[in-house]
Amino acid sequence: MKILVTGGAGYIGSIVVEQLIEAGESVVVFDNLYQGHRAAVHPDAIFVEGDLADRAAVDALFDEHRPEAVMHFASHTLVGESMENPFRYLGENVTNGLNLLQSAVRHDVRRFILSSTANLFDDPERIPIDEAERIVPGSPYGESKYILERMLHWLDRIYGFRYAALRYFNAAGASTERGEDHHPETHLIPIVLSVALGRRDKVIIFGDDYPTRDGTCVRDYVHVIDLAQAHILALRALDRGSRVYNLGNGQGFTVKEVVETAREITGHPIPAEVGPRRPGDPATLIAGSDRIRRELGWEPKYPALRDIIESAWKWHQSHPNGYS
Ligand code: UDP
Repeated sequence: MKILVTGGAGYIGSIVVEQLIEAGESVVVFDNLYQGHRAAVHPDAIFVEGDLADRAAVDALFDEHRPEAVMHFASHTLVGESMENPFRYLGENVTNGLNLLQSAVRHDVRRFILSSTANLFDDPERIPIDEAERIVPGSPYGESKYILERMLHWLDRIYGFRYAALRYFNAAGASTERGEDHHPETHLIPIVLSVALGRRDKVIIFGDDYPTRDGTCVRDYVHVIDLAQAHILALRALDRGSRVYNLGNGQGFTVKEVVETAREITGHPIPAEVGPRRPGDPATLIAGSDRIRRELGWEPKYPALRDIIESAWKWHQSHPNGYS
């Protein structure tokens, strides 16, 4: 199948592209390189540099490459930034997604996978969080993803669109060739590893007064290759109907446990200091992923936090300057 991947030069997108190509699919990447890296794009993928805000460019992309399915990763993705600059999210994320959806409908492409988020569950009533949990977006970022999920719902009803919305919990880890390289970096695991590489002095732990076992936030870290495999399974199941899945390992680790595991793996003391809470962080996010396990047979290959951090550590050691 020929698959258009928006944001295929970004962290998760580039690893999904790699796994799609290894699974024998053909891929066209569309990315504006705002956060993505040209070097992250698998050499067997066709690369088109462009912006989803440019409707003519998006239409031309569909005209020229005739994809049969779309995976949509291109997005602003930071909760904190979205609280400071809501229009970038409620505006750009939404209108860029809309442009993509309109072009897909115009070109009769009805298979679509949306990269969605655990930020739909700001105030969960039950942990682990399954798909029956009420939706409470935690920020304009989460809201922008939810708006796209709702658009897909209507496009399914009206045009017979087949979609999957995959709500990731904490994507982490790396493949051999590809890993996480954001500027600026805000995510815990790459920050902790950059301390181990001597690039930063210490990690600041954002709050230790949460109602968790050691007072620091609990997150469900899922290996990015396992996420990629979930996309491939979801793509193959689309013709049997649209679907929504929460994606995580079902196990939570505290910030302190992540730092401690990284100390063991790297052999570096990784100094850590407790600072204030980061606005918008819920205490605990753990995914209930039974639905995708049951319906698609998804089984994470790398569920252990140790394996996830170890893969990231190998990548950061072999790419100390990221992709640059
Ligand atoms: N975190 C932290 N220090 C940092 C970066 C993150 O204590 O320098 C915490 C953050 O508050 C959250 C967890 O680590 O509880 C995971 O944060 P990350 O930004 O990696 O992912 P998020 O959960 O926001 O998607």
